[in-house]
Amino acid sequence: MNTENSVMVYIQQEGGKIADVSLELVSKARELADELGVPVSAALFGAQVAAEVSRIAALGADLVYLVEDPRLEFYTPIPYSKLMIRLIREHKPQIVLYGATTAGRDLAPRVASNLRVGLTADCTDLKIGDHTQKDREYKRILYQIRPAFGGNIIATIVCPEHKPQMATVREGVMRMNAADASRKAEIVRLSPSLAGEDLPTEILDRILEEKTVNLKGATIIVSGGMGVGSRENFSLIRELAEVLGGEVGASRAAVDAGLIGKEHQVGQTGTTVRPKLYIACGISGAIQHRAGMDESARIIAINTDPEAPIFSIAQYGIVGDLGEVIPRMIKAYKARA
Ligand SMILES: Cc1cc2nc3c(=O)[nH]c(=O)nc-3n(C[C@H](O)[C@H](O)[C@H](O)COP(=O)(O)OP(=O)(O)OC[C@H]3O[C@@H](n4cnc5c(N)ncnc54)[C@H](O)[C@@H]3O)c2cc1C
Repeated sequence: MNTENSVMVYIQQEGGKIADVSLELVSKARELADELGVPVSAALFGAQVAAEVSRIAALGADLVYLVEDPRLEFYTPIPYSKLMIRLIREHKPQIVLYGATTAGRDLAPRVASNLRVGLTADCTDLKIGDHTQKDREYKRILYQIRPAFGGNIIATIVCPEHKPQMATVREGVMRMNAADASRKAEIVRLSPSLAGEDLPTEILDRILEEKTVNLKGATIIVSGGMGVGSRENFSLIRELAEVLGGEVGASRAAVDAGLIGKEHQVGQTGTTVRPKLYIACGISGAIQHRAGMDESARIIAINTDPEAPIFSIAQYGIVGDLGEVIPRMIKAYKARA
């Protein structure tokens, strides 16, 4: 297999388990690579991670560059960026994608500045297209698409003159393909070749905070915005979510106002969700909020303002005060249950 010009994904792993965002990116990379007629490659570093190769292959990777070493068990910037830079120099992918996680946001800029290539953060879409600049035509380059200027425009960013073209994408933004267990990937094992100065950090202890909110996995989400009015009033949102067996979401304005914790935020700078049912209560429907929930299968909006933009994407709209509407919904649901 000609390994050059591939679409490469940096695979983030934690304790040997691959992050969902990396699997979502392998799925997207498959789509881009098919359009370009090139392979999908994956960069997987860790202590004992070879067992995970089959999951990456099942989602579309043709080639996995595998570096196993006990010193790579957890992400640390210097050895990981050194390996990534070496891999890119040797195998010359045309596109490299990273999850916009804490580690991905640390790694990708280090690699970009070392290789002197561009990097677009938090892309919401990636496409292949042509570009003309100063009478020069660039064929089939990566369109890195993301909201800009406070979400007022959707910008298409291109880096036509330098390869690889690199982007980060937040978890949940790209869809994960259905796994095909019959797909196999070629494994290319690489030696870590790390010297003492490449490992300046020693991890002595790790304290992990368990996630208490699972917005991404929820089939029903009841979200509250500024219209909820106070921290105490959020109990109404929680109660409806509980009755329906769903999770509690929120707008950024509600989070910023201290009505609820950041882990509940839905939207461009929060979590991207696609539940079966999304109930937006007292949320105006700003573009940045809609970007994180407009692919929900069913949307119900409750708002006192009949002109609120959220109604333009809702299948069911209730114009009214959520303080009156929600208790009636809870009562009606309990009566039917
Ligand atoms: C770079 C950037 C990133 C951002 N990222 C996000 C993000 O990830 N997620 C996000 O949500 N926002 C995000 N925002 C903020 C976004 O632009 C909006 O400011 C925010 O979504 C508004 O939240 P809201 O709808 O709760 O508040 P408002 O816009 O103030 O809307 C409150 C709504 O409640 C209604 N209402 C009032 N009282 C009641 C009542 N009693 N019953 C029913 N309805 C009532 C009002 O009619 C109004 O429509 C971002 C902004 C920027 C610039």
